[in-house]
Amino acid sequence: MKLFRKRPYIPLEPSSAVEEAQQKPVVPEGLWEKCPNCNKTIYSKDLGSEKICPHCQYNFRITAKERISLLVDEGSFEEWEQLLPIENPLNFPGYEEKLMVTKEKTNMDEAVVIGKAQIENQELILCVMDSNFFMGSMGKVVGEKITRAFEIAINLRLPVVIFTASGGARMQEGILSLMQMAKISIAVSNHQEAGLLYIPVLTDPTTGGVTASFAMQGDIILAEPGATVGFAGKRVIEQTIKATLPEGFQTAEHLLQKGFIDRIVPRTKLRSVLGFLLSIHLDVETEVDS
Ligand SMILES: [Zn+2]
Repeated sequence: MKLFRKRPYIPLEPSSAVEEAQQKPVVPEGLWEKCPNCNKTIYSKDLGSEKICPHCQYNFRITAKERISLLVDEGSFEEWEQLLPIENPLNFPGYEEKLMVTKEKTNMDEAVVIGKAQIENQELILCVMDSNFFMGSMGKVVGEKITRAFEIAINLRLPVVIFTASGGARMQEGILSLMQMAKISIAVSNHQEAGLLYIPVLTDPTTGGVTASFAMQGDIILAEPGATVGFAGKRVIEQTIKATLPEGFQTAEHLLQKGFIDRIVPRTKLRSVLGFLLSIHLDVETEVDS
């Protein structure tokens, strides 16, 4: 009888792995971030433009461009681009190619951006390092750019603020990268002798030759919360001195406790704190002239 006939279903073949993968919901890249400090997963929009973890207040690493746009008076930043030629002084294998790729990927010419800017109407020379470019490492070009920034600051009688973010000296340039420490230190010293203010702001990470030179030579040294600040890595020190280092060693908070830095300033307050510090250190000579 027609009533009891089997209904004609279409048999479904088991779907292949590829089809299964296609059926999975697609999560666009960059929608979620994991906090490196508290390990919680955060919806990217909840980090805000300042990129601060809503759970533990960790200040995420940001690019030099993001930093500048958060910090300076709108439209006041004049970048001094210095298209210095790509060099491979030690003929380090693959260095030039890696530099080219990094330049294209980051849209930066080196690991530091320098220029003149205003923060709360106070003029200054600003240098911002970017850890996305060769881990912010300091080679000849970075050294040259920061040295020129101090020299121009002396001529214009302006304060210097540097945001440090660096893995240290650039190993591909060997001794030439280490020489930048001495070169910048002399420029810092000349700027200081001219009676001008220099404020380094240590951001995550500030290590190696940068810590061992201009990061620690400021008149007032600020840092962002949770920033890693140190010279050699923790493992290297432990192996050398054959002792276990305390928890939190090489953090901004630990260095504040030991008197290496003057104040930890959350990213949300940096603009107003820097504006205030610049306003109370106005250059006396410029004031008299004007
Ligand atoms: Zn967190």
